[in-house]
Amino acid sequence: KQTSPAQAEFYQAVEEVLESLQPILETNEKYQLHSIIERIVEPERQLMFRVPWVDDQGKVQVNKGYRIEFNSALGPYKGGLRFHPSVNASIIKFLGFEQIFKNALTGLPIGGGKGGANFDPKGKSDGEIMRFCQSFISELYRHIGPTTDVPAGDIGVGGREIGYMFGQYKRLTGNFDGVFTGKSLLWGGSLARKEATGYGCVYFAQYMLEDKGDTLAGKRCLVSGAGNVAIYTIEKLYQLGAIPVSCSDSSGTIHHESGINLDTLKELKEVRHVRLNEYLTAHPDATFIPVADYPADGNAVWHLAGAQLAFPCATQNELNEADAKALVANGCIAVSEGANMPSTQDAVEVFLGAKILYGPGKAANAGGVATSQLEMAQNASMQRWSFEEVDEKLKVIMKNIYRNASETAAEFGDPNNLVLGANIAGFRKVADAMIEQGVV
Ligand code: NDP
Repeated sequence: KQTSPAQAEFYQAVEEVLESLQPILETNEKYQLHSIIERIVEPERQLMFRVPWVDDQGKVQVNKGYRIEFNSALGPYKGGLRFHPSVNASIIKFLGFEQIFKNALTGLPIGGGKGGANFDPKGKSDGEIMRFCQSFISELYRHIGPTTDVPAGDIGVGGREIGYMFGQYKRLTGNFDGVFTGKSLLWGGSLARKEATGYGCVYFAQYMLEDKGDTLAGKRCLVSGAGNVAIYTIEKLYQLGAIPVSCSDSSGTIHHESGINLDTLKELKEVRHVRLNEYLTAHPDATFIPVADYPADGNAVWHLAGAQLAFPCATQNELNEADAKALVANGCIAVSEGANMPSTQDAVEVFLGAKILYGPGKAANAGGVATSQLEMAQNASMQRWSFEEVDEKLKVIMKNIYRNASETAAEFGDPNNLVLGANIAGFRKVADAMIEQGVV
């Protein structure tokens, strides 16, 4: 912390993981002997590079590009690319660190990585997005490949951006291979990949509730975000009989008591790419709370009364201690995280203290990366599986992640603590693989 005070998010993620690893570190000398902690917090490789591109006015713009190849003990580096103005080395490093344990938890052969740029796709023309993506890949192409490092999407990177990046990779290398996941269905993408993170996050909530003899049916749900993860969380909630009553973007929150209209949301965010207040044009009975009217110490979406479940699906640190207390006071019984590290450490302590069900992001949102690995498997074997086949595999993977985290939590004496369970289960696999592979 003292040597790199600017890496706040990275230290936040490391602290959370190290705290929950204490029980396994204390009882296993081999991890100390092999300096696993010292090695696991240090990325195998970090790339930072200049991304120059020409805007529509002919002016040269420059962004910072990143790729962190964090850990390859279990397989090729795997993790998304984020394009957002807030991106910096700390954010990419925290995401990469979390990705190691998440990927291990899926039980699939994938290592951990992450990348992105401080580029803001909002308001950019198609041509500008393409030129940016081409410049980004003109540097990154030499470091990635289907058996070395396989990027995917994240905030600000969807099918369009993956298309432009793949096109440039193919042009520079001459290879048509599975170097990206989240590809278009026309050229190697997997059915159900787009839906997988949101669907998986809802399956995870379903398994947590089932274990307590409860179901999703009839439950009112608060969802934050209005992007890929939020949209398919809302879709699956409806399919399983729950009622999502909110969504949000960086301009504000929509509260629709009779249930968010999914068609309107998809039209606004997947087709027209506009701000959420436009939702009111089609649904005047809904309310829009602009960010300026949020409580001074929190996020309005978590203060809406009358919901039993919460699904944070926007971004890191979007749910703080005051928000968590409001959720608990309003009768929330379960939180399943679609986003990465959306709850601050204080908020997590509120959930654990109140003994409500809490599915941390690295377990609850692992369905996305797991389905990316299914895309890699289809590409490598030149096969194409049906939507139902992929969705069925996703359900099994999510159930196994839930079981693995809850059984590990019980093994270490804190049965309902899925933070502890997920961190230890993920760590154990990676650490043992690192020991078996020697000092590298
Ligand atoms: P999208 O870009 O599709 O959507 C992100 C959503 O979150 C948008 O509605 C965006 O609003 C909102 N948002 C982003 N930053 C902020 C902010 N600082 N304040 C308020 N709202 C914000 O991204 P995804 O849905 O793919 O990703 C959402 C989260 O899920 C991220 O944490 C990501 O890391 C995580 N995740 C994604 C996976 C995937 O498969 N896509 C897999 C696993 C985790 P606006 O458009 O106004 O900025």
